[in-house]
Amino acid sequence: MDFAYSPEEEAFRQEVRAFLKQELREPAEGEDAWEVRRAFIKKLAAKGWLTLAWPKEWGGQGASHMMQLAYNEAVAYQEAPANDIGSDRVGPTIMLYGTEEQKRRYLPPIIAGEAVWCQGFSEPGAGSDLASLEMRAVEDGDEFVINGSKIWTSFAHKADAIILLARTDPDAPKHRGISYFLVDMDTPGITVRPLVDMLGRHQFNEVFFEDVRVSRDTLLGEMNRGWYIATTTLDFERSGIQRVIGSMRTYDMLADYARQTKRNGSPLAEHPLVRHKLADLKIEFEVGRLLSYRVAWMQSQGLVPNYEASVSKMYGSELAQRLANAGVRIIGLGGQLAPGSPWAPLAGRFETLYIAASALTVAAGTSEIQRNIIASRGLGLPRG
Ligand SMILES: Cc1cc2nc3c(=O)[nH]c(=O)nc-3n(C[C@H](O)[C@H](O)[C@H](O)COP(=O)(O)OP(=O)(O)OC[C@H]3O[C@@H](n4cnc5c(N)ncnc54)[C@H](O)[C@@H]3O)c2cc1C
Repeated sequence: MDFAYSPEEEAFRQEVRAFLKQELREPAEGEDAWEVRRAFIKKLAAKGWLTLAWPKEWGGQGASHMMQLAYNEAVAYQEAPANDIGSDRVGPTIMLYGTEEQKRRYLPPIIAGEAVWCQGFSEPGAGSDLASLEMRAVEDGDEFVINGSKIWTSFAHKADAIILLARTDPDAPKHRGISYFLVDMDTPGITVRPLVDMLGRHQFNEVFFEDVRVSRDTLLGEMNRGWYIATTTLDFERSGIQRVIGSMRTYDMLADYARQTKRNGSPLAEHPLVRHKLADLKIEFEVGRLLSYRVAWMQSQGLVPNYEASVSKMYGSELAQRLANAGVRIIGLGGQLAPGSPWAPLAGRFETLYIAASALTVAAGTSEIQRNIIASRGLGLPRG
């Protein structure tokens, strides 16, 4: 394994950094943060960066996985709002399983940064055990009629389309009766209801389907084989470096804060407990970075990271929680002040991280589920 960036990759990383420095900005007072984010994504699309490693045949840049890694690392460190499930997950899944017609229809708007997708997998009774989902899609001539509900669907209220899992054969073993659909969100019969998170943000939703009629050409891949397509989508979701690098800038800010802030006349960073905690976290970030590089390196060799993606996902999300814990303790009571408070150290960054990070070990599969995958597929242990 060689994890070093080539001179070309390093030069590209610097180009991305310079672009981000110039283009990244916070939403102004009264400005819609979502609109700012989508406008930024369109700029990335215009540079061809949104679909960097997609094959040229389908409108991508045909860049190597390591080039993609260099890009992902730069945008994640700068906390750029570059996450786009269309280009990260939906497009790559359609490229693998879609018909020519589906590729022609769905890929160009993703490449242009115009299509917003959401992921309709989880249901009230099906999260970790996703294959027990109960949404039904019943064949009716050349159409399917869909009934049921999804939950925790991030940005469904903004999305143009949804990747949807529904049961098409209730009599088959549970993994073998599920199909995968590509559904426009403005199809009659779909209702989106907001769910507000602990930070007061409206990001995820409940989505209800009542007699929603979709044509047969919305089916992705073979009927009743949707489970196997969904696992591909989940592998794409779990394998990004952003889970580790996304909180690294916050770590660097915490280390600076400890250098510059005095308690009882001396810098916090001179306190042995603080020094050791910061040193431990530094090591953990380097370990996390290497775990992510390993996943990207495997992809570059044509290997399929499986439990390796789970190792990296679990480690990165738990590391963000360890950082949040360390931060609020090192900063002290001020660490609990929210953004907007004039007294909040680091502009309330740790209050937000502390609350937001609790969701990281649930989203995209809980840490317990990742551990189960590592135990069975990585270590060959019997199922618990
Ligand atoms: C921020 C956020 C965004 C999300 N966005 C989306 C989205 O866009 N689309 C979507 O479809 N879903 C989304 N989800 C849902 C997410 O995928 C589920 O929450 C997750 O899969 C867990 O499912 P659950 O909530 O039903 O918990 P459950 O499956 O009910 O789990 C409850 C607890 O039991 C544990 N547990 C369950 N089974 C086992 C087992 N076999 N062994 C050991 N422990 C176990 C779990 O680890 C967990 O601690 C999102 C979630 C979050 C937090």
